[in-house]
Amino acid sequence: MEARTNSPKETKKVAQQLAKTLDAGSVVALFGDLGAGKTVFVQGLAKGLGIKRRVLSPTFVFMRSYPFLHHKKPLTFYHIDLYRGQDSGDFRNLGLEEIFSEEGIVVLEWAEKIRDVLPKKRIDVIINVTGEKSRKISIKNRK
Ligand code: ADP
Ligand code: MG
Repeated sequence: MEARTNSPKETKKVAQQLAKTLDAGSVVALFGDLGAGKTVFVQGLAKGLGIKRRVLSPTFVFMRSYPFLHHKKPLTFYHIDLYRGQDSGDFRNLGLEEIFSEEGIVVLEWAEKIRDVLPKKRIDVIINVTGEKSRKISIKNRK
């Protein structure tokens, strides 16, 4: 699926639509340059899942977790931002494999840094900057 947006709000809307399709065990890998809108997209996902807490970029930690109710079932939304690390070696202590196997919804920024540990079954979201306020968002189901 491909979408073109012209504001952060529109990007969040696209994410909210995707959020409806997510369930326990979903992994969303975000690709795109700095400032592309990955964090904006994560905020839309969280909103779409009914998470009320404000989602900020986890700048000084790699990960933030947001417990929430998904169709009345307790789940955890994991927001992982790998910007500050180099490769999967740096992220070993995060216990990523465990998080991927858990009953949660995992969203990763800079997913390319851990390509070798990304689960095969995942949703890739590629955000391309096409103008100051315009973005091309490609969503692909992998498995
Ligand atoms: P990233 O996490 O990819 O580094 P952010 O989501 O933090 O990027 O920032 C995206 C920036 O681009 C924000 O300042 C946002 O306001 C701006 N922006 C402008 N147009 C858009 C758009 N169409 N979609 C998403 N963000 C946009
Ligand atoms: Mg970000």
